Amino acid sequence: MSFSSFGLSEPILRAIEESGYTKPTPIQLKAIPAVLSGKDVMAAAQTGTGKTAGFTLPLLQHLAGGPKVKGNHIRALVLMPTRELAVQVEQSVATYGKHLSLKSGVVYGGVKINPQMMKLRGGVDLLVATPGRLLDLSSRNAVKFSQLETLVLDEADRMLDMGFIDDIRKILALLPKKRQNLLFSATFSDDIRKLTDGLLKSPLQIEVNPRNSAAKSVKQWVYEVDKSKKSALLSHLVRNNSWEQVLVFTRTKKGADQLVQHLKSDNLSAVAIHGDKSQGVRTRVLSAFKANKVRILVATDIAARGLDINELPHVINFDLPKVPEDYIHRIGRTGRAGSQGEGISLVSADEVKLLSAIETLIRQTLVREVETGFIPTHNVPLTRQMKVRPKKPKKPKQRR
Ligand code: AMP
Repeated sequence: MSFSSFGLSEPILRAIEESGYTKPTPIQLKAIPAVLSGKDVMAAAQTGTGKTAGFTLPLLQHLAGGPKVKGNHIRALVLMPTRELAVQVEQSVATYGKHLSLKSGVVYGGVKINPQMMKLRGGVDLLVATPGRLLDLSSRNAVKFSQLETLVLDEADRMLDMGFIDDIRKILALLPKKRQNLLFSATFSDDIRKLTDGLLKSPLQIEVNPRNSAAKSVKQWVYEVDKSKKSALLSHLVRNNSWEQVLVFTRTKKGADQLVQHLKSDNLSAVAIHGDKSQGVRTRVLSAFKANKVRILVATDIAARGLDINELPHVINFDLPKVPEDYIHRIGRTGRAGSQGEGISLVSADEVKLLSAIETLIRQTLVREVETGFIPTHNVPLTRQMKVRPKKPKKPKQRR
């Protein structure tokens, strides 16, 4: 089935073709007709499945056929949990809508509000926003909702995890009653279901991956390793396998910074991305990583959520996440849109309980590898690898 069979207009089909997409992904096959029908939609889909185009393409089609937007008004609102995600979604909107004469914009906190107020003055057809900044703009009368036709809540589970429920409820109270609601979430917890019950009217339900299952295209395994040896093992794995683009997750910001220091002292280029970094730094770091100028990106869960990095080959869990669902989000960064990927977890003795919670969630027992043997295809012993590094005088331990 091709994109042309959805009845999308020529300018949208042209933009899709220019993006290099030849056929719709499974979520797009279901979401595009559902959103075009005008009904409410509730979709279980992880990042990396192509869900952004799944709601953006039909939304653009709908907006292109409607009335002109008035000053300070918006016609469609996409709520996102983080600045990075909001920027990425707006970039997709701009890409797919480049042959249409619609106005799109993005607003998020942590930066000056005035340029955003200026942008809204002329009206915006599709606005992507984080909840706090949107409320701020609304309280200044910079954004008005009486023309609003569609609301999209993307990454709804993460919004609730991040404590946005009150902001979301405040925003819902400002919107016209008659509107189309689209809700996307990787997981459907009881809290999400509570939210959807009050929000969605007889929604069309879409599910592409079985609930709570990790992406099938990702090869996953675990190294059982002493906590103190995790950094050395990571350096070894990156070097020995010649990995050029590696996303590493740590649980804390401090942990991310410490790991970056270790990797740098080991002559591996690495940078951290987390909530303490300014927006400018985060944007620069992400572009450098995407352009292969930085080999290792070390991220915390919140900072990394939804990073749009195509076909990222390796994701490493330096620490296991406290929330098992985050494991699924983390490995969702690899094996995207059908490409093969590897998700590797470095698990120390104190993380065994977390590992078993993850395995219960994904209904899968992950293959264990031991630190000394690594994986059969990469059997250069760690000890040999470490000996050739002159800058590592500490711990010349024998591991066999
Ligand atoms: P998303 O799940 O929306 O974050 O999308 C994941 C990635 O898949 C993005 O980099 C998109 O550019 C890409 N993508 C979306 N739709 C398609 C498609 N039909 N064919 C190939 N790649 C796609």
